[in-house]
Amino acid sequence: MPDANGTGNKRPIEQGDWNMAFLFPQEVAAARERNGLVLLPLAPLEWHGPHLAMGCDNLLAHAFARRLAREFQCPYFPPLFVGTERERNPNMLESLGFSRDAFIEGMDFPKNSVASAYFREEVFAAVVRDTLHILLARMRFRRVLIVNGHGAENQQAVLDRLCREFNAGYAPRRVKWVYPGFPHSLVAGAIGHAAAEESSMLEATWPGSVDLSQLPATGKLHNVDFAIVDGETFDCVPTPDHTLREAQDPRTHFDPHWGEQQIEQAAREVIEEVKAEWLSADLK
Ligand SMILES: [Zn+2]
Repeated sequence: MPDANGTGNKRPIEQGDWNMAFLFPQEVAAARERNGLVLLPLAPLEWHGPHLAMGCDNLLAHAFARRLAREFQCPYFPPLFVGTERERNPNMLESLGFSRDAFIEGMDFPKNSVASAYFREEVFAAVVRDTLHILLARMRFRRVLIVNGHGAENQQAVLDRLCREFNAGYAPRRVKWVYPGFPHSLVAGAIGHAAAEESSMLEATWPGSVDLSQLPATGKLHNVDFAIVDGETFDCVPTPDHTLREAQDPRTHFDPHWGEQQIEQAAREVIEEVKAEWLSADLK
């Protein structure tokens, strides 16, 4: 057989990749017996500036799920390219540099050349609900860790609601979700969009998915022109001219090595949480 993927014809699982799409049913069943855990990475295709691949959020979730699955020796569901956004509220619009009565959904700013693949909130909820039902009731996994790559408030609210729905009457809970690749210390601050952090993490996990030459070499980046936004602006503390703060500018603070360290720290945090809450008995 020709070596089409340059990996010596090794199966993904032989390279530590537990994507369920490549597993045989007996491998899935054996893993399920071991600890009952399955991971569900998800996030939409989304505009992330001209310099990042549109799959950014999903690719980060995918890489993080792959990392955790290798640790837990459990399958991860093939990444779902689903996610949702809502219209921006007047205060956020003003912070970004738009008029308060503009209609802007998520990061789909008028100057973007390609729209994001946002699902309506109710469609997103239905897809995730049905997937959880498949994993728990039909495939009979006992725990689902959702690896959510997309930070929209309404996406997080839907996941919170679904977790409550599926966990009602169960202790310990059966479903929880985490934000991938960002250690607690970063999430506690404000994470930007398509800024230095995400750019660094994306290149660390999927080399070649960042092309800084797509950005102007110099000059400030206005939010409304590129939809590259720093965390403080999302907290409604914009710069006076509604531009990206220098400290989060990917042109000057791009550092895949730093990105790799953040992802590894975040992975260790989640691994410890999952072991403590779900796997302590199984791993003894
Ligand atoms: Zn993102």
